[in-house]
Amino acid sequence: MATKKNNSAFNFDNTYQLLPSVFYKKVSPAVVQNPRIFLFNDVLRKELGIQINKDEPVSQILSGNKLPDNSAPLAQAYAGHQFGHFTMLGDGRAILLGEHITPSGKRFDIQLKGSGQTPYSRNGDGKATLKSMLREYLISEAVHHLGIPGSRSLAVVKTDDPVYREDINKGAVLTRVMKSHIRIGTFEYAGYFATKKDLAALADYTINRHFPDLSGHENPALSLLDRVMRLQIELIVEWMRVGFIHGVMNTDNTSICGETFDYGPCAFMNSYNPETVFSSIDRFGRYSFGNQPKVLKWNISKLAEALLPLIHTDEDKAISLAIKIINQFDSIYSEKWYKMMFAKIGIEEPEEEDVALIDELMNIMLKNGADYTNTFTSLYLDNWLGGNTRVMEALQDWRKRWRERLGKSKKGVEYAKSLMKKTNPVLIPRNFHVEEAIDLADEGNLSKLHLLLNALRTPYDYKEEIKDLLFTDKKFDNSYQTFCGT
Ligand code: AMP
Ligand code: MG
Repeated sequence: MATKKNNSAFNFDNTYQLLPSVFYKKVSPAVVQNPRIFLFNDVLRKELGIQINKDEPVSQILSGNKLPDNSAPLAQAYAGHQFGHFTMLGDGRAILLGEHITPSGKRFDIQLKGSGQTPYSRNGDGKATLKSMLREYLISEAVHHLGIPGSRSLAVVKTDDPVYREDINKGAVLTRVMKSHIRIGTFEYAGYFATKKDLAALADYTINRHFPDLSGHENPALSLLDRVMRLQIELIVEWMRVGFIHGVMNTDNTSICGETFDYGPCAFMNSYNPETVFSSIDRFGRYSFGNQPKVLKWNISKLAEALLPLIHTDEDKAISLAIKIINQFDSIYSEKWYKMMFAKIGIEEPEEEDVALIDELMNIMLKNGADYTNTFTSLYLDNWLGGNTRVMEALQDWRKRWRERLGKSKKGVEYAKSLMKKTNPVLIPRNFHVEEAIDLADEGNLSKLHLLLNALRTPYDYKEEIKDLLFTDKKFDNSYQTFCGT
């Protein structure tokens, strides 16, 4: 058990504890040995208005050894569909310290990940390896700076507690910051294990906290379903924009407020192929790059099922109302995806025949195993020397038609280029570089990790110094595998 509270780094509130007690268990973080800060995000600390108390080492607080003032730590209950199968889950290795209120009044969950066992740990040890927390820190920050909603990482604290997986690993605790950790799985839990009253309390809490504008709606539960679907569609379109593969889109990893989170086996795609999967446990490609929208639709249907009792007392009516919402999924997604893809090729006001331009480009990329990121860079960056000759040749004819099309656009070619620059990152965290940076950091050499973290803060800017990070050996990805919560 962590010792008594004695500092005020955070401005904590604890509204989650106002929910019925089925939704959480009070639990303190485990005490860890010799915690020291390994990575610290001072920019984020300042953004959030978190104070550093000079008398208390930050490592003591962010390891869970000392509880900050007004922290009322808890583990959240949730269930979820993992690879299509329903299971009871809950925070097995994460503890919510409290909700930090920023000076401008914004509310963020401050959660420790890897902070020991909870009543939901099942057979797990509640711990996290240093390498996996470095990975989460790196990729979550990269996603944020790519302009995509997601959980943030405030710190990684290294401990002297060994973590036993296939071998012995160094241990760490990550501080995760998120609008909230309410997920589709929280609603599934309520629907399955709690009363209708509890479910209604969760829906009210969620609406008050995230979507207060819905509270006056005629059918707030139905509006909640619609809102979450739209936010999540926007999120997945953003993933598709940059080639992000979440890797484990279980319903417990689908956030209600539309943020990317749970950076386990996620990875960025290099060569374009919708079937790309890196996760070692995803043998059938359920969570492949191209399947992400389909899986999201399935996940949203699980949210709908959980919300049915609140949508209408007559189940048949509730179902037909929910179906009406979900039936809009495909057209909303398709419209948003094409809009995003048009922006990637510099078209803001598409015409019907432009769809063929996108479809052909994707085909050429697929056929030639073109690099997803660099292909777009090559379209708008003058003097780009990174083009793959074979891909460039395959694109010659397409480029001609595309240039002609841009020539006809009202706002002109320069405007198109500026749109493309905003939409297409030059730099993504490429698997090879991510792994090398983490391996070196695990051995105590943080130079590459800091280099990557720094470069990934401005992923839309081409700089000569980061040239090496823009390329990767194709062969590396062929045998690359990522792992879940290690
Ligand atoms: P994830 O794959 O991270 O979404 O985790 C799925 C479930 O497994 C969640 O309920 C986690 O809390 C739990 N879990 C993952 N790793 C551990 C661990 N080392 N100890 C306890 N529970 C864990
Ligand atoms: Mg999870």
